[in-house]
Amino acid sequence: MEFIDLRSDTVTLPTQEMREAMYKAEVGDDVYGEDPTINKLEEMAADMLGKEDAMFVTSGTQGNQVCVMTHTRPGEEIILEEKCHIITYEVGGLGYLSGVQARLIKGKHGAMNPEDIEAAIREDDIHQPRTSLICVENTHNRAGGTVIPMDILRRTYELAHEHGISVHMDGARIFNAATYLKVPVKEIAKYADSVMFCLSKGLCAPVGSIVVGSKEFISRARKFRKMMGGGLRQAGFLAAAGIVALEKMTKRLQEDHDNARLLAEGLNTIPGIKIDMDTVQTNIVICDIGGLNMTGSELSRRLFEKGIRVNGGNSPSVRFVTHHGIEKQDVEKAIEAVKLIAKE
Ligand SMILES: *Cc1c(COP(=O)(O)O)cnc(C)c1O
Repeated sequence: MEFIDLRSDTVTLPTQEMREAMYKAEVGDDVYGEDPTINKLEEMAADMLGKEDAMFVTSGTQGNQVCVMTHTRPGEEIILEEKCHIITYEVGGLGYLSGVQARLIKGKHGAMNPEDIEAAIREDDIHQPRTSLICVENTHNRAGGTVIPMDILRRTYELAHEHGISVHMDGARIFNAATYLKVPVKEIAKYADSVMFCLSKGLCAPVGSIVVGSKEFISRARKFRKMMGGGLRQAGFLAAAGIVALEKMTKRLQEDHDNARLLAEGLNTIPGIKIDMDTVQTNIVICDIGGLNMTGSELSRRLFEKGIRVNGGNSPSVRFVTHHGIEKQDVEKAIEAVKLIAKE
């Protein structure tokens, strides 16, 4: 059976153009800085994000963790939103790898209020850790792919700098945010000292993420990447797909957003299902299925039998993600399948 896979945009496969670009890629040893395709991808990424330099990393997780290491010293404290990816899905790396502790703030639709951030910054006191970093996630995954409003980003960046603190943006889906806001991605990236974004999600590359920042930041980060085993040799094969991702796939994300909205509107009419439509901004739809009297994993199992894959756990909630390869008729089929299950 052919599945309609709505679990994540990470399931996207490389396009034919990517496969051809990979086959033909000119490569060299990137640890020596001699891979022309990696160098081209890094230059392109730095330019698009409006930063001095960029570095290819194996995954978003590696990128975030390397950035935290580069911005902080052990014993310091960093401020994050309580449901962010770095806290939830990175295996406790903050403490293990960087030796920092986390100060968590509850956000609204994933956005931390700048006043709350300012109140959480530690004083210059012998007892307290130094606050050295603020992390923002844009779009915010667990909040439903929500976009952090520009004025919040700007105020966060300004107050961080008043306090001598850096800002890291987990921008795994920053191109979805830029598509939603209809601005060039550098307009968003300018409110962070470092940004990580993924090539391997909605942008369809098979492997890889990018970290951008100042020349000085990236040169220190390269050393941490090497320490973490992320110094790759003929990585240009991966970069070749990444270049297609940046050139082509960043321009088609509105299609995924339109499909997500269609999906959310359809699901929201089903009795027992509730969706906060304010959170449906990009390609993620989080459904409260409390009224169906089943857990997310139960609904996910029953949808699987109908050829549809979604992510759900022990809570009465499921997540749908639209992406390249999901068409309008797939969305319609998914809505019909949920309708049938809700009626049973
Ligand atoms: C997917 C994701 C990451 C990590 O990316 P991987 O490549 O899966 O390690 C980081 N942050 C957010 C918000 C994500 O959605």
